[in-house]
Amino acid sequence: MQVRKYGRKGRCRIRRVNGDTGILPNILSAIGNTPLVKINNISKSAGLKCQLLAKCEYFNAGGSVKDRIGLRMVEEAELEGKLKPGHVIIEPTSGNTGIGLRAGHAAVKGHIRCSHRQCQEKNEFGEGVDVVLNGYRILPLPKVNKPLAVFPFCVKASGTYRNPYNPVAHYDTTAEEILEQCGGKVDMLVAGAGTGGTITGISRKIKEKCPNCQIIGVDPYGSTLAAPSELNVTNISYYEVEGIGYDFVPTVLDRSSVDKWYKSEDKETFIMARRLLREEGLLCGGSSGTAMSTAVKAAKELKEGQNCVVILPDSLRNYMTRFLSDSWMEERDFLAKDHKAASEWWWK
Ligand code: PMP
Repeated sequence: MQVRKYGRKGRCRIRRVNGDTGILPNILSAIGNTPLVKINNISKSAGLKCQLLAKCEYFNAGGSVKDRIGLRMVEEAELEGKLKPGHVIIEPTSGNTGIGLRAGHAAVKGHIRCSHRQCQEKNEFGEGVDVVLNGYRILPLPKVNKPLAVFPFCVKASGTYRNPYNPVAHYDTTAEEILEQCGGKVDMLVAGAGTGGTITGISRKIKEKCPNCQIIGVDPYGSTLAAPSELNVTNISYYEVEGIGYDFVPTVLDRSSVDKWYKSEDKETFIMARRLLREEGLLCGGSSGTAMSTAVKAAKELKEGQNCVVILPDSLRNYMTRFLSDSWMEERDFLAKDHKAASEWWWK
């Protein structure tokens, strides 16, 4: 049997970044330039005519879209002289920003703490690493004998909810990549909002180049980010999906940059996240399911030849004990008890 080899005649599948060697100068170079992947099976079963495309942010070095802003906020704080080696960073985060800061700037020392609502995986990931994370509110400062570079207290560089470099990171990188990958033609973009930095930054750039592109925001029931506010009326007060939704509107979320909001429920979110794994091979997290389950509804109005881009913010790595677990899904009635066992997937 003849074995075909990659790497000949330009067929190498490995992205070569640094001249001939393929060696990255450091891990920061593995942030950004994430793949845009065509969604085939889910798109077909939804009967979509347009091209459905997933921006896979879990390919970033720290496993999420937040690596981009971690890097950018640190670099800008360094340029302003506010952050120096040995400083401690304190940042309110749901987990991914902290992991991103850690992955993106391991030279900045500190400690880690995650807010309690987050899943075990994010907490464990944070144990014993270098960046300080606190909950949504500013907690008592940890006792450290080091200078503190505390983002929430800095005038200009103030927490991801207010730091202008959060949306700017997406304006400068995520949106540019999407435009390039789509050959400059983006007809619809779908994303959830936590701080809102992703959707705001991407929208601002894409609207400059494709003014007719529809920007679709997704907000879980139980959160109040969607507009108009009547959309948020519900009996649901709690949701399981992480990283999106709040009961206040963060400063960096410019709701005028969103053309239309959809509300989402946990069940459709997690079923879709599992389908993305099973039917498309995408190892993405729960909020990716939220965005994709909305995209298959919103993109029904698009025609052949049009592009709908969906942001998949993080990785399945964070949720192994959550929506990937059948019992976790069953306990919450997201999956019927008599559903087909996971092992049957392989025989389909
Ligand atoms: N999904 C996940 C898993 C996240 O961690 C975040 C960040 N909070 C988002 C979506 C939303 O990103 P943004 O804060 O830019 O709105």
